[in-house]
Amino acid sequence: MFCKNCGKEIDEHAYVCPYCGVLVATPVPTVSNVPKKVNGLGIAGFVVSLISLGLGYFFVIASIVGLVLSIVGVCLRKKYTSCNGLAVAGLVIGIISTLIWTIVWIAVGATLALIF
Ligand SMILES: [Zn+2]
Repeated sequence: MFCKNCGKEIDEHAYVCPYCGVLVATPVPTVSNVPKKVNGLGIAGFVVSLISLGLGYFFVIASIVGLVLSIVGVCLRKKYTSCNGLAVAGLVIGIISTLIWTIVWIAVGATLALIF
């Protein structure tokens, strides 16, 4: 190749021109230039599931909401490049939370039915 500054022929792999000292290497294109697409549904599902795990007794609906958000997040994970792991984690926590609080509420219902 030829130096863009002085026009002398230089080595193909040269980083700087040996004649004039100007930088001749073409910058290597950065691979991680693609903007990250964050899986917001996955994050929301994870957070709601986590909250519902602790507060499911008061907000049973939160377990189901967290579960649904996580399922959608997992289903759409191919569209996103970031936070997909959270969607999967939210799905697992959502299932556990829903199961726990469903069992609790069935137990509560059965106990009440026995009493009255
Ligand atoms: Zn040069």
